[in-house]
Amino acid sequence: LGNRLTGVFDKLRRRGALSDADVQEALREVRIALLEADVALPVVKDLVNRVRDRAVGQEVIRSVSPAQQVIKIVNDALVEALGGGEGDDGKRGIDLNAPSPLPILMVGLQGSGKTTTSGKIALRLRVRDRKKVLLASLDVHRPAAQLQLQQLADRAEVTCLPIVMGQRPLEIAARAMDVARRELFDVVILDTAGRLSIDAELMAEVAAVKAFAKPHETLLVVDAMTGQDAVQTARAFNEQVGVTGIVMTRVDGDARGGAALSMRAVTGAPIKLLGAGEKLDALEDFHPDRIANRILGMGDIVSLVERAAETIDQAEAEKLAKKMQKGSFDLEDYAQQIKQIGKMGSLSGILGMLPGIGKMKAQIENANLDQSMLKRQSAIISSMTMKERRKPDLIKASRKKRIAAGSGTTVQEVNRLLKQFDDMSDMMKRMNKMGQKGMMRGGLA
Ligand code: GDP
Ligand code: MG
Repeated sequence: LGNRLTGVFDKLRRRGALSDADVQEALREVRIALLEADVALPVVKDLVNRVRDRAVGQEVIRSVSPAQQVIKIVNDALVEALGGGEGDDGKRGIDLNAPSPLPILMVGLQGSGKTTTSGKIALRLRVRDRKKVLLASLDVHRPAAQLQLQQLADRAEVTCLPIVMGQRPLEIAARAMDVARRELFDVVILDTAGRLSIDAELMAEVAAVKAFAKPHETLLVVDAMTGQDAVQTARAFNEQVGVTGIVMTRVDGDARGGAALSMRAVTGAPIKLLGAGEKLDALEDFHPDRIANRILGMGDIVSLVERAAETIDQAEAEKLAKKMQKGSFDLEDYAQQIKQIGKMGSLSGILGMLPGIGKMKAQIENANLDQSMLKRQSAIISSMTMKERRKPDLIKASRKKRIAAGSGTTVQEVNRLLKQFDDMSDMMKRMNKMGQKGMMRGGLA
């Protein structure tokens, strides 16, 4: 195993940092891919700039090309831009956390899929969330639209507000809320009329309905195939009506989904659901990583880089574990380890490589390893000479002062680090003794 490990390690050794030229070249390809996926130009520019800042200077992973590595960085930035960051989970899907009857307003251009999506959401809320749902069509411009919603309601087995000829959208909304209150509906979905393009009359009508009904969710329905126009649509609806979420329809088609990114960028509203077909059950939850993959169209490269990066972490961690075992662990290794902990999130990832650790692991985990402290410890070690890192015993009072000044810390902090390192070394020696009693047999060596 030792040999194999070194082999892996040689192959994966880093070779410096991503250069400006590496990044520029890769980003040229990325820019084309994004434009082909129908991401709006300003959004592409913004994303590319952000990625450039992030990528230049990053350490290169040897087993992949710089271009491949940049693509992975773009992918991560895309996932983030689509709402894949931490804490965004709660915003996905429809927010039902409000008193009944909870109004949901559906807005968007004609043909985007509002009526169909209203039916889909009604079905989902009835079946999955056990809600009593009322559907109401405010589309007075096309009588056929009201009939369409009635048919969808029948199929979804929910109630549709009866059609009353000659009523204005506001009157229908008022009647819907009234019926909902009286008949104890949980959710009222108000399906509005669309136009083929944005116009003032439509916006005024929708805004008036919104002001009256005070919907808990205002969902903008957009066709994934609209591409560039989606930005204009999203901006107009968001500025003039205000939206709380986006539903992107026709993701079953061959559009690459760039519209999702543009709309999210322009409105800041989360993408909540996807429409993936004409059938009533063709409604999907939104997964930022899947859409990012589809927009970029380079999923193979992304997973290749992910695997390579994992292998490096694994190989480095195994090397550290081996040093711990041999008792040849010094402050330089400790600095490496801090870096690994930063990446893997915890020490257990590394200790897990050591056989037979058990209780010790918990003990080390508890040793107050928060990230800001790790950063300061990293800075302290960086201010030491290589000789000091290899032989920490050399570090006496005057060296401590120099190191503290160099790292912007205090002598106390330097002392604390040295003490912690001592404790860890001791613990490792004890582990080794235990190991020699048999636990380590069949271990890494
Ligand atoms: P509205 O004018 O915004 O109410 O749009 P509709 O709901 O009437 O939908 C217009 C057309 O798009 C209909 O033929 C729907 O069946 C179709 N449609 C809606 N959502 C989807 C979807 O997610 N995938 C596909 N393939 N077709 C859809
Ligand atoms: Mg409609």
